Amino acid sequence: MSATAGEEEKKSSSGTYECGCHCGYIKFSVTLSPPLPEYQVLQCNCSACTRFGYLLIYPEAANVKWHNDSRSRCATYQFNTKAKDQLFCPKCGASLAIDFRDFRKPHTYGVSARTIYGINLEELKYKKLDGMSLVKPAGDLSGHYWDEEKGEMK
Ligand SMILES: [Zn+2]
Repeated sequence: MSATAGEEEKKSSSGTYECGCHCGYIKFSVTLSPPLPEYQVLQCNCSACTRFGYLLIYPEAANVKWHNDSRSRCATYQFNTKAKDQLFCPKCGASLAIDFRDFRKPHTYGVSARTIYGINLEELKYKKLDGMSLVKPAGDLSGHYWDEEKGEMK
């Protein structure tokens, strides 16, 4: 890891995690600040999060390292506004992440904490979101994201 001068404090309060699908075809690492378990993982009840089993963390793309060209290996799914890609392993089908593409600046991913190797979901801190009620139509969060600083959906 590299850090420029003045980022020492930020660096010390972050953590890097190895992630991947079930079969090993997709592998990547994520650097998070604050690190787990201080990071509040988003647990949302919208239609997409329910189906895909998302427990989301939101690293900027610069903090996501795809190993062995794994990003291009991912199968993608889009719905509603089609502004985002839902990412899956094409071999084992594991639900991995959301690529916000141009929708969110800077480029950010919503990564399911379930992809972190050795993760203990019982030890995570969760922030529950009633996406089903807050985001229309019908709890479809496509094209929306959680604004960490403002604490609201955008
Ligand atoms: Zn797989």
